[in-house]
Amino acid sequence: MSDITSITQRLKGHHPDADLERVQRAYAFAAQAHSGQVRSSGEPYIIHPIEVARILSDLGMDEDSIITALLHDTVEDTSVTLDDIRELFGEEVVCLVDGLTKVGQISFSSNEQKQVENFRKMILATAQDLRVLLVKLADRLHNMRTLNFLKEAKQRSIATETLQIYAPLAHRLGIHRIKQEMEDASFSFLEPEAYKRLSKSLALGSGKLLQNKSLLEQVLQGVLEKQGIDAKVQGRIKHLYSLFNKMKKKGLDNLDKMDDLVAFRIIVKDLPTCYLVLGVIHSIYSPVPGRFKDYIGLPKPNGYQSLHTSIHGLDKSRAEVQIRTESMHQYAEDGIAAHWAYKEKDRQSSEQEKFQWLKRMTDMLQEDCEPAELVKNMRIDLFIQEVYVFSRDGDIFVLPRKAMPLDFAYHVHTDVGHHCIGVRVNGREVDLSTHLRNGDQIEIITSPDQSPSRQWLKYACTSRARHAIRQWFRVQERQSCIHLGQEMLQQASGRKISLPNSILRRMNCDDMDGLMEKLGRSEISLDEIFVTTNQERPRWFNMLGFSKNLRIPSECCRPIPGDPVVGMFKSGVGIIIHHQSCEKVTNKESKQWLDVRWEGEESSFYAAKVQLRSRNKTGMLARTSLCIEACQVNIEDLTLDQTSGGGISTVNMLLHVRSCAHLDTVIEKLKEVDGVMSAKRQFNFDLPKINLTVSDNFKQIFFRNK
Ligand code: MN
Repeated sequence: MSDITSITQRLKGHHPDADLERVQRAYAFAAQAHSGQVRSSGEPYIIHPIEVARILSDLGMDEDSIITALLHDTVEDTSVTLDDIRELFGEEVVCLVDGLTKVGQISFSSNEQKQVENFRKMILATAQDLRVLLVKLADRLHNMRTLNFLKEAKQRSIATETLQIYAPLAHRLGIHRIKQEMEDASFSFLEPEAYKRLSKSLALGSGKLLQNKSLLEQVLQGVLEKQGIDAKVQGRIKHLYSLFNKMKKKGLDNLDKMDDLVAFRIIVKDLPTCYLVLGVIHSIYSPVPGRFKDYIGLPKPNGYQSLHTSIHGLDKSRAEVQIRTESMHQYAEDGIAAHWAYKEKDRQSSEQEKFQWLKRMTDMLQEDCEPAELVKNMRIDLFIQEVYVFSRDGDIFVLPRKAMPLDFAYHVHTDVGHHCIGVRVNGREVDLSTHLRNGDQIEIITSPDQSPSRQWLKYACTSRARHAIRQWFRVQERQSCIHLGQEMLQQASGRKISLPNSILRRMNCDDMDGLMEKLGRSEISLDEIFVTTNQERPRWFNMLGFSKNLRIPSECCRPIPGDPVVGMFKSGVGIIIHHQSCEKVTNKESKQWLDVRWEGEESSFYAAKVQLRSRNKTGMLARTSLCIEACQVNIEDLTLDQTSGGGISTVNMLLHVRSCAHLDTVIEKLKEVDGVMSAKRQFNFDLPKINLTVSDNFKQIFFRNK
């Protein structure tokens, strides 16, 4: 077929090593797959892939891109599978065709302008390989060329999508040929009246315009030749859509009032000559102030380079002039595609040039990027750090690449996150640990009874979601501290209490909740509350029903200050203090136990059990009593047991001491008494084998900062 031959010839021109036979095979395969199918125009379907391949061969794209163009609709529209393509054309082509099929499945349904940029980014992210994007642009361009065979509504929606999504992508990739044709075609379908008017008046005035154009072309060429500068001067009339936009911007309704319809390009051999030419032209025709731009020194984000100026040319009418080198020109026309066209021809391209190209790429996509292997494999996904997903209503959400369903849920709304009980991705229920992929449609299932769990932090990577989950727990924790504080106060006093503001202020609290939170967190003690209340309003203090120390050592284990202790409320009594190893502590549900600090009261004494073993010697008991008295310690109770046998007796005493340290000195003194064999503190439990275990909940509330 001659059609495909012209394409393979083009390909060979740019890529001498290309396997043309393989391209022929792809053509035959596609023709076979699409046989019998026709387009809306009535033409055989295969015409479309051939024309897409032609556009790409004109851009100088490589062999795999051409093959992908030929095959691009087979998986979607025929019985051909990706496996078939893999077997016949290899992994690279399969990836490209698959990428193209995926991009084809994204359809722009949201009409919101703010979503347009996200939608473009989603297409970039889905494409993964830049060549996928280029084939997609060529595909869309050919569809635009044949759009008149479709119904009007379809024409409008495709033209809108092209204008909003694909033409800007072509612009961003620097492919101006495609961008301009897409814009003009979209314009003709979206604003048919304006399009007709504009093209008609351009045609009417074209005689004069063309005359002007060629005249100025000759003049400029002559001037430069005189200066000994080797340059190519090309005039062109601007494309319709850009004229239309300019007129709209300036509020003009008539083409006659536009004075820069013609633009000139001057292409020279090297960079310094660009500035030389600029100087020559400005010396002959006066420049329009404020119109000079140096895109060589400061390239556009898409990599475009040129000098731009406007001059008052013939008859003082304005003309735009762009000055650039041959390679800048190639890039301006074909953008990214120029990379493939030059890749094999221009083998001496330096590392630095490659790096510049890479930098342009990354600037263009406005992403941070590690240079790495990008140039080698053209993978867009290596430098796109985001994932683009849809809500059920078709809105696009941008999330980090590792995002999971909860990230999405919290992104929609904090309440959606808090009440999430499940998630459907593309209609299928999935785990919370599932990583979201480009183009996924996500539906969060909620229930008013659901609340966050700490596990969720494992399934959320965005700071927004993680913060919301942590915040929820902070609020919950505060609530439980307040609740605990209320319970402590109520149990201690035997009634519900609301303290006056003056008392709250003295304790640096804004309200009762604040005070109860502090109490619950042990930042303030019940004692302090009662002492403060007493100082402020003694009557209140009496009402509270306490006049004594609120911490009462339990009689079962008889703790003394300095012992490791925990406390438990007894309504109307206070906090009963137990030794941490007390049987009662280990037998109780740990949640009820409070971590208390207990230093004891100054000038108070606490009872401790002490056991003495001694030989039955005359006056033993008297000597013991004297020793205890010498330590200024009262004996509350004393029992003597002489049944131990072997002339040994056991003495159990209840001594009043200030603290553990005080007791230790008493015991040391007792050991020195003549006849005493041992003296030790006595518990109703064995020390120290029991360890108090506390629940996580308890720790969170009481062991802050740990
Ligand atoms: Mn197609």
